[in-house]
This record gives sequence, structure tokens and C-alpha cells, in this order.
Amino acid sequence: MSIDRPEIRSFQPPVRTLMGPGPSDVPPRVLSALARPTVGHLDPAFVGMMDELKTLLRYAFQTRNELTFPVSGPGSLGMETCFVNLVSPGDKVIVCVNGVFGGRMAENVRRLGGVAVVVEDPWGAPVDPAKVEEAFAANPDAALLAFVHAETSTGALSDAAALAAIARRHGALTIMDCVTSLGGVPVLLDEWGIDAAYSGSQKCLSCTPGLSPVSFSEAAVARIKGRQGACPSWFQDLGLVLGYWSGAKRTYHHTAPVNPLYGLHESLVILAEEGLEAAWARHRDNHLRLRAGLEALGMRFVVSEEARLPQLNSVWVPEGVDEAAARTRLLQEFGLEIGAGLGALAGKVWRIGLMGHSSRPANVALCLSALETVIKG
Ligand SMILES: *Cc1c(COP(=O)(O)O)cnc(C)c1O
Repeated sequence: MSIDRPEIRSFQPPVRTLMGPGPSDVPPRVLSALARPTVGHLDPAFVGMMDELKTLLRYAFQTRNELTFPVSGPGSLGMETCFVNLVSPGDKVIVCVNGVFGGRMAENVRRLGGVAVVVEDPWGAPVDPAKVEEAFAANPDAALLAFVHAETSTGALSDAAALAAIARRHGALTIMDCVTSLGGVPVLLDEWGIDAAYSGSQKCLSCTPGLSPVSFSEAAVARIKGRQGACPSWFQDLGLVLGYWSGAKRTYHHTAPVNPLYGLHESLVILAEEGLEAAWARHRDNHLRLRAGLEALGMRFVVSEEARLPQLNSVWVPEGVDEAAARTRLLQEFGLEIGAGLGALAGKVWRIGLMGHSSRPANVALCLSALETVIKG
């Protein structure tokens, strides 16, 4: 059989400016790291790089957790890795839902046979710690608290320190989604006492999509070791993955995505060179630039000022503007991608990302002038 489309040649992607909810612009240094020669995934040189990756990730997460490494898969697989290892059938988990990703956490708990106690907050609002306190009072047997630090579906930032403190007071462990927060706003695992955290490579770390950094505290590791019955996922069973990612003798579990890990390593070196505090300040400064311009165009933010994420700006689509047509024009005429609304906000908002390498004054300027053009017809 011959190929029925003889015109197919190498894929040449268009050059875009990525200002949606992820992926973000990938800097040239990371793209060239990806193109370095592939080595064997148990090559001593590669194993040395894996150790550096763990050290760099501990810096990004601000943790001393030994069990810190990138899961071979997107943020969603990091999420499942946390839940599948920590939740056993019958376990009660308090899950905060204030957008799409909190809803997915609750779904994970249910599929594992756990009981999800859902604490709901409106889309666009942060998680209300008072409601979490009430949920623990009503469910003193809850073993875990799960919440999304930075809800990418709305642009709201929740108070992770306050939420983790409530869980600790009630003897529960904490699972935190920091896919969009890591590298863009403070994420302080040890200071806050977070037990399990997962992130993604393609948001504020500005690597290519497909890797999910995770970190587990000693208390989380003790819970995993003490679990009754096997972890229902073979691929994500941390007991098995660990033989590959730690210890003196590395044993084969799966073939690590060698080149993508070069890219993550480079993106974390770039973050360490800049420094976390400087990266957070840059995200804030560019958010303020964007905000001034959007407000000058008469646009309003979905999230109140105190809970606004600098790296994900949700604004109401101005009246009379066809939101999908406007995004198509941004892409076709300006090579600019911004995000549409999800779920309850579909068709009503735009989500403008200023994540990682995309958080630059030049991007802010492009976005504002392009938006002005398409809004004014
Ligand atoms: C993007 C995102 C995810 C999922 O990450 P994928 O890499 O798309 O699987 C999970 N949680 C949040 C908050 C996100 O923004």
C-alpha cells in the first residue's frame, strides 16, 4: 500500500506568540536543548542530568522533599499520580472546586472509589478558607484536602498557606495543583506544609508540553508506603517509579522522554539564573502593564484585584464583539494566540496568559495593539 497523500512533507509550524492558558512561548535556549543528541536513558551522563533535574525542581518548588521528579506525561498525569497513590477506596477527600481543574480533582477521587466532599466557590473567586474549615468540622474523618492554587480556567489565586494550615490542624494531608502557579507566583511547599504537589512544563516554566514535575513530603511517602492493597495504576505506582528516579542503582521502569527532559532541565536553569523572586516580580510587572492597557481599552477583569493571577488574565469580552471571530483575527493577522473561556465562562471571557517566557513587555504591547484593532473593527 502506498501513502495516499504524496504532498506530505516535513511539518513546518507557523511562528506564533503564545498568550493563552498554555503552552507559553518556548525560549530558543530550550528549543536548542531539545535538539541535542539522544542518549540512552540509563547512560551515566543522563542519570547525572536526572539528579540535577531533581535539585532544580526542589529549588522551583522551594522544598527539601527527596521525592521530587518530573512525571513522564502532561500535568493531568501528574494530577492522577498524586491521587492514585494517595487515595484508597473509601477515603474521604475534601475537594475545593472553583473552576475546571478542581472539578477534575473531584472526578479523580470518585474514580478511585474515594468519597469527594466538594467545597464549591463561584468561578472567578478564590477558595474560601471558612468553607473548608466548615467541611472539616462536618467531616472530621477526612484524610486529604485537595485544591488548585492557580485556577487557569478563571485566573483566580487561592491562599495555599491558609488552606494547608487548616488541613494540618485537622490531621489531613494536602494535595495542591500548582500547574499554572509554579514559576509565576510564590509556591513554597515546605513553608506552607504541602504534602503532594504537581505542576506542568508548559506554563510558567516555558518548556514544551508533556512533563509534570511532582513533589511528595515525608508524610505523603509514609502514607503511600502504608497503603493497604496495590496502587491501581502500574505506570504511576510511585513505589515502582522510584527505583528509576532515585537510589544508587537505577532500574528500568519506562523509557524516560530523554530529549524533553533536556528541555525541562534548560528551562529550570533559566529560572535559576533569573532567580525565583525576580521571575515573580517580572510576572507582576508585566501583568500591571497589561492591566493598564486593557483598562484603557475599557475592558474589565473577571477576578477581583486581591485574587488576580498575574500570569492568567481573564477579562470580559466587550459587548457587541464576536469573541471567536476576534480570536481568529488575532491568530491570522497577528500570529497571536489568546485563550477562550471554559465551562461556565465559555463565550464570555478571554484568557490572556503572561506565563514564563511569554511574560515580556514586547508581548504586552503586541497584545494590546492587536486587541485594539480587532475590538474597534
Ligand atoms: C494546564 C493545567 C492542568 C493540566 O495540564 P496538562 O498539561 O494540560 O495536562 C491542570 N491544572 C491546571 C491548573 C492547569 O492550568
